[in-house]
Parts: sequence; structure tokens; C-alpha cells
Amino acid sequence: MNFFHVPSGFVGTEVNKDFNIFCSDKCLKKLVDGTLTCNCGEYYQYYEWAWDNNNNNTDVKMSRKGKHVIFHPTYSSGTAVVKGNKIFQQNCHYYWEIRIMSELYGTDVMIGVGTTGFNFADRRHEFCSLLGIDSNSWGYSYHGYIQHDKLVRQYGSPFGMGSIIGLHLDMCNGTLEYFLNRKSLGVAFKDLKGKELYPMVSSTAANSTINICCCISRNPTLQLLCLGKIVEQRNLYKQYREIPGLTKIYDKQYIWMTPQYEVDEKKRLAELDEEVTLSLVNKFDYTKCTNMNIFLEDDDSMSEDLFSSYPLDTHEYYV
Ligand SMILES: [Zn+2]
Repeated sequence: MNFFHVPSGFVGTEVNKDFNIFCSDKCLKKLVDGTLTCNCGEYYQYYEWAWDNNNNNTDVKMSRKGKHVIFHPTYSSGTAVVKGNKIFQQNCHYYWEIRIMSELYGTDVMIGVGTTGFNFADRRHEFCSLLGIDSNSWGYSYHGYIQHDKLVRQYGSPFGMGSIIGLHLDMCNGTLEYFLNRKSLGVAFKDLKGKELYPMVSSTAANSTINICCCISRNPTLQLLCLGKIVEQRNLYKQYREIPGLTKIYDKQYIWMTPQYEVDEKKRLAELDEEVTLSLVNKFDYTKCTNMNIFLEDDDSMSEDLFSSYPLDTHEYYV
């Protein structure tokens, strides 16, 4: 898999507010100490693991039996990490969801996995994009990119307060796929087969708060394999949805199995919108637009950095 380096100044320079949220505007109006009080999306009630609190880490405050975490509850002096209390087994499917309960800001907040050999304690007093900083960890940043072994690539949308990040770890094939508000972003990482992995979240932001929405494991049964084939085919999936009661059971058991073509359809429509916008921009006479000139001049250094660092073949990785 190809990656590219983070252009200087790319990380930690912006506060991301432009993202889709799972919660409604009403929820955002009922914050207590900057934290959501609703339980939107937390209805599955599957909790097969929680965050490990054995190391008495003062950078992290936990409650609700390790399902609710506040990073840097007083102030932040570096990067705090939480790690799951169970290791993922081989030849099994795992799905878990992290709900972002407070606004995210600063250097980085990352969601992903790390091996037993990932030494994160050394970075405790550094502000860094921790997950993916070496070959023992993999992470999706709230800025929207993914990182592994110090290399990053553009991946999904930024996320923040009110977002639900889902992760489907397929230990049969060794892939990790992320979901934003229950929509697949495609496979982010491969070659995870045979590794001893834990779920992890890292944060540099004071008072950043997360909940575990659900965490489940499923064996690769014939039922799971059949459903995998059904969701790939539009007509078959339509017939399956029409069988009374069946989908109620399986939607809850296999939360991550959303039809990819539904997402693709939205992506296609979004691209069509983009094409229309681009064709309008192309017809625009820049010489008569002073605002546009100022924007381009201001952004010159950043654009050069970005274009020199991003290889053209990056596009083949968008699913
Ligand atoms: Zn809500």
C-alpha cells in the first residue's frame, strides 16, 4: 500500500468544524461542561470489552466501567492513550464504535489499533499524532487522514463532536475499515493478519471525551459470508430487506454490513455536484476577481507543499 508523508504544517493547524454529525442540532444545544448529554446511537448494548485502566494513568479519567473516557481532565501536557482490555483474536470479525462527546481541537485525536509492542508511554509528554507513528500502530485522525508507520494519506472526512466512528477489523483477511456515522469509508489498512492487536484512541486535547457505543465480535460463519454477498448486490439486498423480521435480527448482529453501493451512489452524486461547480469555476474570468487572486497568493506555499507530496496514484485507493 502506498502512503505519502505529511506536508509540513498540515497537522494541527486547523480546528475542524465542517463534518457530518450523527446527533441533531438539538443535542448540541444541551451541552454540559462542553460535553454531549444525549445517548444518540448508543442502543446496541453490546460491550465485549472496555478501556483498560490498570496503569493508573492520570492523563485519563474513566467511568461507566471503562466505557466513558475523558482525556487530560485538568490540562494537557502531551499525548494520552487508552487501550482495550482484550486482545483481538485471529480469524474473527470485530466491530466497535467510538462516539465523540466533546469538541476536538489541537494537534491530534486518533482512533485505531496498536500491537502489544507499541510503546506509547514514551510519547506521553509530546504533542503528536500518535497512532501510526511507527509500524506497530494504525490510526484515523480527526483531521480526516490515516497514518501507519509515519506515513499518511487522505482518507475520510474530518470528525468531531457528535460523530460516531465505526471500525470493522476483519482478522480473517487482515483488513481495517472505518465508518463515519455508520457509512463506510472503505478499507483503510491491509496486512493486519496474524498481528496481536488492541483497540486504541490517542488524544492531545484537554477534556476531549469519548464513549464506546458498542463493541462486538462475530465468527466467520456461513451466515456472515452469505450476508456479505447479499449486500454486494442491489437486487438481492432489496429482496432480503423485504423479508419480515429478518433484517431486524441481522442489522443488529452485523452492524457494519451496509451496502457499499448506497455510499457509492451518494459519492457519485457528490462528484457530479463537484463537476458542475468546477465547470462553473472554469468559465469564471479570474482576472476580474481580486478576491480569488488574493486567496491563491495567500495559499501558494501550502498548495506547493501539498501537490509536491501527493502522488497522482493516490486516487486508486479511494473505494
Ligand atoms: Zn445526540
